[in-house]
Amino acid sequence: KQQLLQQMKGQETVTKDGRQVHLYANIGSVSDIASVLDNDAEGIGLFRSEFLYLGKTDFPTEEEQFNAYKQALQLMAGKKVIIRTLDIGADKQVDYFNLGQEDNPAMGYRAIRICLKQPEIFKTQLRALLRAAVYGNLSVMYPMITSTEEVEQIFAIVEEVRAELDAAGIPYKMPEQGVMIETPAAVMISDELAEMVDFFSIGTNDLTQYTLAIDRQNAKLDDFYNAHHKAILRMIRMVVENAHKCGKWAGICGELGADLELTDAFMEMGVDELSVAPSMVLKVRKNIREYTAN
Ligand code: PEP
Ligand code: MG
Repeated sequence: KQQLLQQMKGQETVTKDGRQVHLYANIGSVSDIASVLDNDAEGIGLFRSEFLYLGKTDFPTEEEQFNAYKQALQLMAGKKVIIRTLDIGADKQVDYFNLGQEDNPAMGYRAIRICLKQPEIFKTQLRALLRAAVYGNLSVMYPMITSTEEVEQIFAIVEEVRAELDAAGIPYKMPEQGVMIETPAAVMISDELAEMVDFFSIGTNDLTQYTLAIDRQNAKLDDFYNAHHKAILRMIRMVVENAHKCGKWAGICGELGADLELTDAFMEMGVDELSVAPSMVLKVRKNIREYTAN
């Protein structure tokens, strides 16, 4: 079996009936890139940038971030790297953010909400990302989006950063920009979001939590947690359809993307990209290569 999987290395990720799918890997630090390459992922579909902020006593500097992103892009040598902007809060707490106690942290001050309320933090990360983009094939994606206004605010801040870099004559490149679809609100307005961004990446971990009203951290609720709930599958279908209507691509970077029982369903829905744990890449590729619509 292991040998069969090894044969998947170097093979294209294409369905039996000829549709090319992008198969990327999820990582949480630069050191994970070795296993991305070892498992022959075609890129990084979710680089959780929290590693730069966690386990520290103060905010990472622009230079620190620039160096880490640049290193990742260089190691990936032209393959796509999708870096997610910071998703601190909820399950990921850091003292120096002084977030304070919240009754419902998952529904609280986290991720893009912090970035929009404290744009200095966001701008430092964006400057580092735009500067690093020169060194490879970078895309940036924003977590926890619930409205088009948030995306407008993000783009306004990105424009400020560009203007500052231009004025200072600092080299940079504009990356592709996408949003994570991980709230039911984002699903329902995905027709409008699709007009604004380059791509969607569906975060099924949070999307399931918010749709089924099941705290993803609460083990007591395991019996109620149905990852294959029709509501989630219908939402994924809707998001992909809305992306395609605007000529944009849609992928899945939540755990569900690696669910081998669902590969066929995702192919049937027209999902363009799956980003999975490095150890799942070859298994998912095998499934995709066996899929045919008829
Ligand atoms: C998700 O919510 O599905 C996701 C990919 O992001 P995270 O697990 O980091 O919240
Ligand atoms: Mg999430």
